Amino acid sequence: MSNPLPAPYDARIERVRRELKERGIQCLLVSSRENVRYLVGFSGSAGWVLVTDNDIVLATDARYIEQVRRDLGNSCARLADAGLNAFAVSYVATCEAAVLGFEAEHLSYAGAKTLENAIELSGTCCEVRPTDGIVEGLRAVKDDGELAAMTRAAALADGAIAHARTVLRCGMTEHALAWEIERWMREHGSGPVPFGIIVASGPNAALPHATPGERQFAAGEPIVIDLGATWGGYCSDLTRTLFPDHMPPPFDSVYGTVLSAHMVALHGARSGMRMADVDGLARSVIVDAGFTDCFTHGLGHGVGLEIHERPAVSSRSTDILLDRMVYTIEPGIYLPGQGGVRIEDTVVMLEGMPQSFSHSDKENPVV
Ligand code: ZN
Ligand code: ZN
Repeated sequence: MSNPLPAPYDARIERVRRELKERGIQCLLVSSRENVRYLVGFSGSAGWVLVTDNDIVLATDARYIEQVRRDLGNSCARLADAGLNAFAVSYVATCEAAVLGFEAEHLSYAGAKTLENAIELSGTCCEVRPTDGIVEGLRAVKDDGELAAMTRAAALADGAIAHARTVLRCGMTEHALAWEIERWMREHGSGPVPFGIIVASGPNAALPHATPGERQFAAGEPIVIDLGATWGGYCSDLTRTLFPDHMPPPFDSVYGTVLSAHMVALHGARSGMRMADVDGLARSVIVDAGFTDCFTHGLGHGVGLEIHERPAVSSRSTDILLDRMVYTIEPGIYLPGQGGVRIEDTVVMLEGMPQSFSHSDKENPVV
């Protein structure tokens, strides 16, 4: 009765229960779409999970209820016909929780106020308490099924960059190449792409988050291509910088520096290290080469159901690197007005060491 869901969800819910016990919370309201998907496998657009020490329910509306009954069984599925808020209030009253935790990062201020007021009006004696990162913290450490999905997503990204290398021509526009990449991934099985593909050429390559436009590629200029696919909801993230025809100065030395910084972090990270120190491994290579102010973002980010999730991978991060964490290593050097270079792999920590999901060539950027 206490946990009717199959693997891997049963284990995940048990981990949530341990967290709740430590924090003195009797009931957790999970409203983040990704957290709901992580805990019960439901990927619809409207659904709240409520977890207590001996129960778990997914409340949803009439559009989804039949699917949820089929996937999760009658004991978990609840039709919230008067709305999710009203459902949560009546559920809290029945389970007699002294503290109801909600996800402060995901429920809006207005949503939290409405919930609090409704609970007060109902006469239930329950404290409504904001919580932070309970499910996200668990999601940072991946299980085997998640790693398998991420391997598939990464293979799609590798295939897409290989495709880009074959179709890239001088005179082609950024937009045309971005669409070639997206179409290739979707045709080969990717779900919706997790972010707008970046194809940034020439001076645009100096902008880490450039949007592809009508600019045409010219020989000898950098083209930063940052792309990702999804498989079973899990994201991949990959960046390569390519040069049509040849790689002129200063980009030859810029490319060499970024590649060294990338490899130092890729080979030097160890489980147990502070993420800030992993960032420092790459950053010091770039600083030592004289490009101090040209690496303008953190080394990377966690990846999973979301393209940016925990752990934080930057000089300000307080996270500790653990086995089975998945994150990106993506140093870059950006020269305003001239262009830039970024090289990104997604890696997983296994037996203390990083192992890359990405296998695309980094040594030969000239196409
Ligand atoms: Zn990326
Ligand atoms: Zn990234």
